[in-house]
Formats: sequence, C-alpha cells, structure tokens
Amino acid sequence: MSDCIFCKIASKDLPSKILFEDEMSLAFLDINPVAPIHVIVIPKIHIDSIDEMKEEHLLLIGQIHLTIKKLAKELGLSDGYRIINNCGALGGQTVNHLHFHILGGRQLQWPPG
Ligand code: 5GP
Ligand code: ZN
Repeated sequence: MSDCIFCKIASKDLPSKILFEDEMSLAFLDINPVAPIHVIVIPKIHIDSIDEMKEEHLLLIGQIHLTIKKLAKELGLSDGYRIINNCGALGGQTVNHLHFHILGGRQLQWPPG
C-alpha cells in the first residue's frame, strides 16, 4: 500500500526506532508513547486490520506474538504488560495497517476508555 505509513516504515522509506526485525515482522518505538515502554509490532505485509485476517496469516500472527513475548522479556517487563490491537474506527484504530501495541513500565488501568 503506497500511502500506508506502516508499509513505509517496514520498507525503511520512513525512519523509525527499530527494536526487532525478521522476515515477517518489525517492532519499533511508537512516535507518541503513552507509557514508559510503547512498542508497535507489525507484519511487513499490508493487512488492514484483524478484520482482514485470513487462515494464511495464522503463522504470521502467531509468530508476532512470540516476538512480543521475547521483546517484553528483553525490555524488562517481567511484572506485566499489555498487548493492544485496535480494530476499526470505533476500536480506536488510526493507522489501517494491522499492528499490536506493547505497553508497559507503569500500572495500566482497566477498563480502557
Ligand atoms: P492505533 O491508534 O492505530 O491503534 O495506533 C497507531 C499508533 O501509531 C499510534 O500510537 C501512533 O502514535 C503511532 N504512529 C503513528 N504514526 C507513526 C509514525 O510515523 N511513526 C511511529 N513510530 N509511530 C507512529
Ligand atoms: Zn501498510
């Protein structure tokens, strides 16, 4: 998707602070952090949202969760963290490229707004 900012981050046409990368996925710091640790993890291929997930994405999205677990450990989030996937306008999704937030480093509140 040529006008997608996360595709541009994945292709390195837009700079980001990358924490992890493999063939399938990329993890980078959120530009506007809402917690002491706020990382975004994306598949490198463009998928609009979890609503567009298909069976062929099972391995990819499973692998992303293993990456999230590994990153959380590396980032010292041993007391807990939150994985967030906002889906669609009412879900609060503002970038229409599937992504998972990792939030940590403070006590997170529940329920979210
Ligand atoms: P959403 O609201 O779609 O769940 O999350 C999108 C996230 O992407 C937001 O937390 C926002 O701060 C982050 N974001 C938007 N544009 C950029 C960018 O150009 N670079 C980085 N690193 N993060 C971005
Ligand atoms: Zn994209």
